[in-house]
Amino acid sequence: MAAPFVWTCHWCNEPIADDTGYITVDDTAALEATAAWERHEREEDEAAAARESRLAFTDMVKLRDVADKNPKIVWYPSHVACDPRRENPDYWIGVGRLRNLRDVLAVNDHLSTKRWTAHTDWPAFLLRTIGAAGDE
Ligand SMILES: [Zn+2]
Repeated sequence: MAAPFVWTCHWCNEPIADDTGYITVDDTAALEATAAWERHEREEDEAAAARESRLAFTDMVKLRDVADKNPKIVWYPSHVACDPRRENPDYWIGVGRLRNLRDVLAVNDHLSTKRWTAHTDWPAFLLRTIGAAGDE
């Protein structure tokens, strides 16, 4: 059996034991980014419909600019005690629920139902945490 995943605190760089920490993200910011993106897409759709034309290349470039100006909201692993945002009602998942690949797939499945996940760095986060650990 593979060794359980070790989560390292973003702030103190120490491992996080079950019930002492979590992975967390500012889901309020992610929701705001999602709403802004959807609003922008609706405006683009309306403008395109008004012109009775397909989205032109220049419009595509504009869409990309918007994405570039809205960097992804980052996930980080943290001890409860170390998290500078622990007083905020951020979204979190206890590290005790994320100790193996099966756990991560279940959480991934759960997050895929949330519209705001796409505006976070979730896939990159998994790569730099679990992906990096696998190379050691
Ligand atoms: Zn810590």
